[in-house]
Amino acid sequence: MDTAPKSDSGAASTNLTASWGASCGAGAGRWALLVHGGAGDVPRASLPAQIAGCRAAAAAAADVLRQGGSALDAAQRAVETLEDDPKFNAGTGGCLNADGDLELDAALMDGRLLRAGAVAALPPFKNPIAIARAALEDARHVLYTGAGAARFAEAHGFVASANGAMVTDAARERLAKVRVEGGTGGWAGGTVGAVVRDAHGTVAAATSTGGLVNKHVGRVGDSPILGAGTYADNDAGACSNTGNGEAVMRLCLAKTVIEWMRGGLAAEEAARGAIHLLGGRLHAFGGLILVDREGRLGLARNTRTMTWAAACDSWSEIAGGA
Ligand code: ASP
Repeated sequence: MDTAPKSDSGAASTNLTASWGASCGAGAGRWALLVHGGAGDVPRASLPAQIAGCRAAAAAAADVLRQGGSALDAAQRAVETLEDDPKFNAGTGGCLNADGDLELDAALMDGRLLRAGAVAALPPFKNPIAIARAALEDARHVLYTGAGAARFAEAHGFVASANGAMVTDAARERLAKVRVEGGTGGWAGGTVGAVVRDAHGTVAAATSTGGLVNKHVGRVGDSPILGAGTYADNDAGACSNTGNGEAVMRLCLAKTVIEWMRGGLAAEEAARGAIHLLGGRLHAFGGLILVDREGRLGLARNTRTMTWAAACDSWSEIAGGA
């Protein structure tokens, strides 16, 4: 690898703000990718398993690229892997709304022609990101919500999940705890995302989440909103956000960061700037992952943890941390 990844994870318990960056070179044929498992406060004992989940997603996405798949294919594969892992707040294991139901948000964007697809407040389907991909390919509309998103999914061959099949005991317990504490919109952590630059210089971003615990029915977060939680543009880079969705939306954070990278800022610097804006301007918490058009990777967070994993064609191993 050109630059050895240097993780700030050692500082995680004492210093909330941390960043990481690496470069594998921008030459022809080079690819790089980065996935996250959500800004939050994962207990120390659970971190190894969560990082392993991110590594598995990065490995699956790397395989897609090695077999000639696109950045879009790889980002989708990474997020599907994390949606299927019940430890994360996306797909199976997603957090529950105030009625005790799953309402899932996901978006996918291709930086080549700015093609995008998204679903919001989707009832349980196994892989919301695959339905976002179907919307992207269908190309008639970008964003489908609620019952309309379910109807679109079924019309494209997806089968709704059987009642309760995607709801885990951990999600039920988290909802019960938040209800006892009297909170609305408790932060679950565990949102997932991926950014990829493929060997042809195309970038893609994908994000998927169950949102917040005990959120009001119909609440939509930043993840499926282009320019807030998710964005990709070959002239700049790709971004997937996690954290306080209401703050991320108000800042149009993904598009803001994309414009900084279009202006020449490297991924790690742009990620640090985003966290400065989120924490400094709105006193909100979160994290993000970026790849810039040069293939440089960057992440930053102002939460205690954000699990991640990265892969690059020139590295012999997958990097990972929290
Ligand atoms: N950003 C997500 C939302 O507000 C939550 C998270 O990333 O933890 O829905």
